[in-house]
Amino acid sequence: MKSFTYERPASPSAAAAAAAAPGARFIAGGTNLLDLMKLEIETPMHLIDVNGLALDSIETTADGGLRIGALVRNTALAADTRVRRDYGVLSRALLAGASGQLRNKATTAGNLLQRTRCPYFYDTNQPCNKRMPGSGCGALEGFSRQHAVIGASDACIATHPSDMAVAMRALDATVETVRPDGSTRRIPIAELHRLPGDTPHIEHALAPGELIAAVTLPRPIGGAQLYYKVRDRASYAFALVSVAAIVQADGSGRVAIGGVAHKPWRVEAAEAELPRGARAVSERLLADARPTHHNAFKLTLVQRTLGAVLAEARA
Ligand SMILES: Cc1cc2nc3c(=O)[nH]c(=O)nc-3n(C[C@H](O)[C@H](O)[C@H](O)COP(=O)(O)OP(=O)(O)OC[C@H]3O[C@@H](n4cnc5c(N)ncnc54)[C@H](O)[C@@H]3O)c2cc1C
Ligand code: SF4
Repeated sequence: MKSFTYERPASPSAAAAAAAAPGARFIAGGTNLLDLMKLEIETPMHLIDVNGLALDSIETTADGGLRIGALVRNTALAADTRVRRDYGVLSRALLAGASGQLRNKATTAGNLLQRTRCPYFYDTNQPCNKRMPGSGCGALEGFSRQHAVIGASDACIATHPSDMAVAMRALDATVETVRPDGSTRRIPIAELHRLPGDTPHIEHALAPGELIAAVTLPRPIGGAQLYYKVRDRASYAFALVSVAAIVQADGSGRVAIGGVAHKPWRVEAAEAELPRGARAVSERLLADARPTHHNAFKLTLVQRTLGAVLAEARA
């Protein structure tokens, strides 16, 4: 591991100001960043430890929603009685992720900003436009079973690995940030993660040094809230495909898909097809899909997983 300097700022604005320096990175639970540092995929010169900031509470908002501090651990968020009662899709998605030990450390902000699990990104002997812009993409000519089927580019076909983010996309969450100049802004989760295009190394809409302070959920919308995750092992594995669904008694609802794109995949227009069933929704959701030879099975898997979710929701 390369040497780096370390600080613990006293406030969110001090953290954001410090992070504006070149080579500076925030560290929260460290469950993703430290692994990447050990492999020298990430080599920050300065680490800003945000764990001492008072961003670890879950508060009810004035309009009846929830404000989740950036440092709320995945375990605490999944277990919160308000989340379990009103945002079941979020609790279920969190519990489908990683392991109990990891969820005890992993934070809300860190989970949103965790990096891809593309094996070529992790293998520094392979070309990877995300790790080293302009070097090529090992996955395009390699084994791409886990990779994206939609929204990808000729530069990168990686997926976003977070389960929590898929549920938050279905819930229309908003990300609150603090910028290095102390100003704040709110980013709809739909706009937080980017598609790869020609710049797969730019993964989200945050400016350098911008700190996530919280994630806000709108007031509860009820419905049957389910999260199904299909993976190669029953636990401790990333999604091949996942489905976050909120289905109302009249058959309307929302659907977001994980494991298929560089961001949680939701097409609001496809949700109009929910009364017609999983096949109609999937065809609309994945109308522009361009799977590889290895991962075309994901199109069928999305349809079948969504079919199972809708059947359970109706039951
Ligand atoms: C073996 C293993 C299995 C896993 N399985 C799953 C799984 O099935 N599903 C799943 O969803 N995840 C899984 N994960 C990933 C895990 O959920 C993430 O590593 C974790 O959520 C990251 O949170 P953290 O707080 O540890 O982030 P860190 O590692 O501390 O940080 C991650 C990134 O977020 C940035 N960051 C952190 N906090 C802030 C902030 N407040 N503002 C701005 N930037 C910030 C950091 O700079 C860094 O770039 C797995 C991880 C491992 C190691
Ligand atoms: S898919 Fe993306 S992350 Fe994976 S090797 Fe290609 S450029 Fe790198």
